[in-house]
Amino acid sequence: SLILVTGASGFIASHVAKTFLDEGYNVRGTVRSPSKGEYLVNLFKDTKGKFEYVIVEDISKEGAFDEAVKGVDGVAHTASPVTFAAERPEDLFEPSVKGTVNVLNSIKENNPNIGRIVYTSSSGTVNDPEMPCPVSYDETSWNIISEGVCERLGAKADGGHKYRASKVLAEKAFWKFFEDERPSFDGVTIHPVMTYGPIIHQCDSPKSLNDSIARRIWPFVSGQRTEKDLPEPGSSFVDVRDVALAHVRSMSTPEASGQRFLASSERYSGNDVCVILNKEFPYLENVPKGDDSPGARERINAVANFMDSAKSQRVLGIQYRPIEDVVRDTTESLVTRFGLK
Ligand code: NDP
Repeated sequence: SLILVTGASGFIASHVAKTFLDEGYNVRGTVRSPSKGEYLVNLFKDTKGKFEYVIVEDISKEGAFDEAVKGVDGVAHTASPVTFAAERPEDLFEPSVKGTVNVLNSIKENNPNIGRIVYTSSSGTVNDPEMPCPVSYDETSWNIISEGVCERLGAKADGGHKYRASKVLAEKAFWKFFEDERPSFDGVTIHPVMTYGPIIHQCDSPKSLNDSIARRIWPFVSGQRTEKDLPEPGSSFVDVRDVALAHVRSMSTPEASGQRFLASSERYSGNDVCVILNKEFPYLENVPKGDDSPGARERINAVANFMDSAKSQRVLGIQYRPIEDVVRDTTESLVTRFGLK
């Protein structure tokens, strides 16, 4: 069968496309330029399934996906801006919300017989960023704070709230479509926490790295963050390959219908990243040393929220990779890309 992957040139979406292709699905990816499309054609030339691309320059435009959805059997909607540095909240809301509504309407108008749409939401629609940590979250929770902060403060709202509100509003619009329209196809949402892992998409310099790796891995690899920035606690991580597998499995698992799925491995800190980098990449000279004394890891990570991914492990059969593999494989890809050795 043929799956449409929106924003296929992105960090996560390129892995989503690859995993579908490796499982034998054919994939049509939307990209913003022919050069991004050709990069992917070359990247996927030996996969089991066939890859093709179509140009969708702006997902916020009504009807943007009218042609792209024709003939597909399922859709993975991943395209959305990811940045904590937007000026106005609307700069993010336009593409996130309209992009999501547009893809749903294009399916309804042009190909209502697809089976399912899987939407890449975020853990940011689940946890309340202003609750004192540590709290345990699962798929029954909603971030009820970011949208209100943006309404109140507009451009002055914190960048994290602007981004999270863009995801909350888009996900609300996603579920509302199913309530209002009762289409014959169904929907699933995947909620990754901070996502890392090997880079396979087009990315020629550290400046064009995707947001999560740029903010939380690259600064340690490159030595921009120092000992005084550690332990940088307070997050959970997941590997991009596991996030991709969650998209593929949720497309084909009947019980996934109408469900939200957190995609999360474990809690970790910047200290864990540094300890692993020093062990695995001794030639990266400016990495802060970190604290590898017994018990340090558990002590530091105990203050972070716990994102309970038991449901995706059970229903989708995902076994999440540990932090050692994720930091090693992310960094190996950065070393190769940017010639760091
Ligand atoms: P990327 O920035 O690598 O990918 C975003 C994709 O969306 C790119 O293909 C980009 O196109 C496309 N895009 C953005 N704005 C537009 C627009 N206006 N019109 C057309 N295409 C657009 O980010 P990620 O891969 O990290 O994120 C992908 C999805 O996963 C997002 O929905 C994000 O919210 C979600 N997510 C990410 C997490 C993470 O830690 N990385 C965690 C949780 C959720 P182009 O390449 O041309 O810029």
